[in-house]
Amino acid sequence: VGFTVSRRSFLKSALVTGLLPSGLLSYESAFADNLKDSTNLATSANAIQESTSGVMVNDVHSGLNPTRVSSIVKVNSVEDIKAVIKSSKLSGKGFSICGARHSAGGQEFYTDGVLVDTTDFSRVIGLDREAGLFTVQSGIRWSALCHELDKMQSEPIPASESIQPQVSRQKDAPLWGINQKQTGLNSLTIGGTLGANAHGQGLLLKPFVGDIESLRLMDATGESFVCNRTQNQELFSLAIGGYGLFGLVTEVTLRLVPRQKLKRKVHRIEIKEIAENFNNSVKQGSRYGHCQLNVNEKSAGFLTTGVFVAYEEVALDTPITAIELNEDRWRNIVELVHTDKASAYDLYEESVKSSNDQVDWADSWQNNFYQGGYHKLLDSKLHQDVSGSEVLSEFYVPLVKLPDFLFGARDYFLSNNQNVIFSSIRFIEKDDETFIPWARERYACIVLNFHTAHSSAAIQSTMKAWSHLIDLAISLQGSFYLTYQHVANKQQLLSCYPNFEKFLQLKLKHDPHEVFQSDWYQFHKKMFS
Ligand SMILES: Cc1cc2nc3c(=O)[nH]c(=O)nc-3n(C[C@H](O)[C@H](O)[C@H](O)COP(=O)(O)OP(=O)(O)OC[C@H]3O[C@@H](n4cnc5c(N)ncnc54)[C@H](O)[C@@H]3O)c2cc1C
Repeated sequence: VGFTVSRRSFLKSALVTGLLPSGLLSYESAFADNLKDSTNLATSANAIQESTSGVMVNDVHSGLNPTRVSSIVKVNSVEDIKAVIKSSKLSGKGFSICGARHSAGGQEFYTDGVLVDTTDFSRVIGLDREAGLFTVQSGIRWSALCHELDKMQSEPIPASESIQPQVSRQKDAPLWGINQKQTGLNSLTIGGTLGANAHGQGLLLKPFVGDIESLRLMDATGESFVCNRTQNQELFSLAIGGYGLFGLVTEVTLRLVPRQKLKRKVHRIEIKEIAENFNNSVKQGSRYGHCQLNVNEKSAGFLTTGVFVAYEEVALDTPITAIELNEDRWRNIVELVHTDKASAYDLYEESVKSSNDQVDWADSWQNNFYQGGYHKLLDSKLHQDVSGSEVLSEFYVPLVKLPDFLFGARDYFLSNNQNVIFSSIRFIEKDDETFIPWARERYACIVLNFHTAHSSAAIQSTMKAWSHLIDLAISLQGSFYLTYQHVANKQQLLSCYPNFEKFLQLKLKHDPHEVFQSDWYQFHKKMFS
């Protein structure tokens, strides 16, 4: 369940929690738990500390990837990263790289290998105010990045510095904003966003690759170099969406967009009207939009009705009217959706509808409240015998085929008792720049969050549903996201990612000693061996 958290409340919570520019803290208790559990946490990479017992780590959201790593190394300088690479070469052991640890297919972990945690490597390098380019270290989280961007633009501009002429500079209003980020939460890192080539809620935006001007990559020799569309283009296309297998991205230069103020327009739709709603919103100039689906399986509108939200641009002097987030309401809906779907959906719909016509900055609309570790609290509150979590998945089909996908998914869920906790439709433009694009075409994205008890039968049932949905997407000329799973078999994988085998070959060309590792890589290497 997603709620927008306004920039004001976000900044307030950042201050309350002592969020530093370097993004040292977040309100993700599950992540903090992971760190606390790390008995062998190294604060500097000057030496890689090994422990015989290793350290258990897990992904934050699904919690279905418990992995023993030999140690965790928190890097906070280029020298630290070089030292990890050197040490890894000496030991002959590869390592994996993590940001906020939200990928759920083993991309950020390597069993018994060193885990390089980038979340302290999170400084801002610079803002080019004329070109709208913002360079940051890769471990910075979106929350800290937006905070820093705000702060830098609120500072007086030296008289000698010229400003992009066609953009008026507002008192107290930053000139540039981010184009898109994941809307589910604010604590993900830029490196992790790049590694997955993630997306936000644009109506006509490419995945994150479209927002990257260039990146700096450190390879297995410890050398670092710039990759963009003209320099080291092959590595640029491999590193973005390449899940950390081609080197450690040290810096990212983001393309910002002039900040817009947007009015939220909300209405209830039948899923068969979605293409019409999408087209109308685009015609009216909306840059962002999405549709939250009804997840109450007892209602006739299960997965076939929803609330369509589009954002219309308004004048920059329009007052901000977006209402501060009510975090208790978020918790209330999350709890209700596990116990009483009908009330949960009514409450959700009412809450979204009440935001109709509210105005806020475009980047603020992309913020969201998410309480890490919420499921643990829920399990104890609901006295569940077996712990559980929500397991995310995402599929893609051409927009005209979306109703076919949703009717097919609905039938499957109803006959297999699959418990959908949240579902949202997003839109994506074709990605013609990365080597293994998930957005091979312009697609509608179907996000599904399944409640899954952590018992082998329930996990198996979720994996079976995934596999079924991959086949359904393929039958409708669609695809699936690699970030949440490695459920797909070879045939399914190659149908959606025809370049995958070549991707593995290029991995060996660029990293012949396989320094950059992950369980996700090992799984696929074996699949193609
Ligand atoms: C609740 C939730 C909501 C989400 N919402 C969205 C959404 O709206 N849209 C969307 O597209 N995705 C979404 N995601 C998925 C998310 O975007 C990806 O999982 C993303 O990779 C997470 O970033 P992270 O910082 O946790 O990275 P991690 O999971 O830690 O790492 C991801 C990958 O990037 C690599 N990596 C990380 N840092 C570097 C670096 N510096 N250099 C090289 N490689 C690196 C890692 O090795 C790994 O392969 C969501 C996930 C969750 C759990």
